[in-house]
Amino acid sequence: MSQETKKSVCPTCQGKKVIEGVCETSGEWQGNDTADGQVCTPDQKCPTCNGTGYVEE
Ligand SMILES: [Zn+2]
Repeated sequence: MSQETKKSVCPTCQGKKVIEGVCETSGEWQGNDTADGQVCTPDQKCPTCNGTGYVEE
């Protein structure tokens, strides 16, 4: 049996199924302790592949 549906690794999450949270240093905190100025977003399900890690072509 062969699969006729082509699937590619999701380009958005690289197959990881989630978008990893990122931490950024807020500009408002420049000059202060960087540890206190970080704004982080939580991991979230990849919207491109809906958490499957692959997208159909
Ligand atoms: Zn994805």
